[in-house]
Amino acid sequence: VSALALTGCGRADTGSTAGGTSGAAGFAKDAQIGVALPQKTSENWVQAEGLFNDGLKSAGFKGDVQFANGGVSEQQNQISSMITKGAKVIIVGAIDGAQLGTQLKQAKDSGATIIAYDRILLNTDNVDYYVAYDNYKVGQLQGQALLDGMKAKKPSGPYNIELFAGSPDDANAKVFFDGAMNILQPKIDDGTLKVVSGQTSFPQAVTQGWKAENAQKRMDTLLAGSYTSTTLDGVLSPNDTLARAIITSVKAAGKPLPVVTGQDSEVESVKSIMAGEQYSTIYKDTTALVNHAIDMVKDLQAGKTPETSTETDNGTKKVPTFYLKPVIVTKANAAEVYANDKLLAPLTK
Ligand code: BGC
Repeated sequence: VSALALTGCGRADTGSTAGGTSGAAGFAKDAQIGVALPQKTSENWVQAEGLFNDGLKSAGFKGDVQFANGGVSEQQNQISSMITKGAKVIIVGAIDGAQLGTQLKQAKDSGATIIAYDRILLNTDNVDYYVAYDNYKVGQLQGQALLDGMKAKKPSGPYNIELFAGSPDDANAKVFFDGAMNILQPKIDDGTLKVVSGQTSFPQAVTQGWKAENAQKRMDTLLAGSYTSTTLDGVLSPNDTLARAIITSVKAAGKPLPVVTGQDSEVESVKSIMAGEQYSTIYKDTTALVNHAIDMVKDLQAGKTPETSTETDNGTKKVPTFYLKPVIVTKANAAEVYANDKLLAPLTK
């Protein structure tokens, strides 16, 4: 790395020294930045890969973006290899936020800064920042959409519903579920909502690995067990991939479609919403989230403290957090919400 690269662009006044070290600046402008992504369980992760590669490159960094489709041990190895390559920042979208403690400690010991991306890293001191969409709010929006959608079809209850949650190893899954139950539980308690299967707890509702096939199988079983002579009015689905699996199951059983929620604004689900099948999704623009993570890296490079707006308790420490705002989307507001999204706006025309 030449001194020119380090002090270029008029940044010599930030205190950068000319000898290859960065002085008051956090680290070299062309530093290695690791990005450890989980499995490709939804479109947002696939989009994140390209956005991190392009965004880090155009900011001048050497990006090292990895997926861990093989599971937790693959992700552990990827983080170790990022440390070996001398990454100055490691951005982690964890498969299992509680299983990376050893690697995160090694990363911190090597002098790297750790940013948890989308999913918090649990029970460790070795995480510096967290950037995500407000996950509890996502759950609340889903719970409210489920109620609103059912009410629009049938003005008064009781409504028969079933509850699905995400993968229990993903720290977000419980937060989404708790947010939704914050809205739904009072309505279950007052009799407006009836979970006919009786499966109301998070462990009963989970979908291992966020896999569509697992949600589809559980929906098949619920329909066969609890809905032979009862109408299913609504299903809480934590994301779009699972929403479409639930809809597939209902169609295969020859039943009328219930109100089904979702999350991520995946192309197939936006089409389904416009066609009047899936009821809702959540818009969490991946570009904005990736850009925010890269902005944090730029701040760190310049020796500045990244901007945060709140804190997230990860069981060990309160992690400085920047939350972006999720937006609920139904057929009624899709055109407006996606107006500036090149991929999704055309689907609403
Ligand atoms: C993300 C969701 C996504 C899910 C499955 C979660 O951690 O926040 O956007 O649907 O993982 O990939």
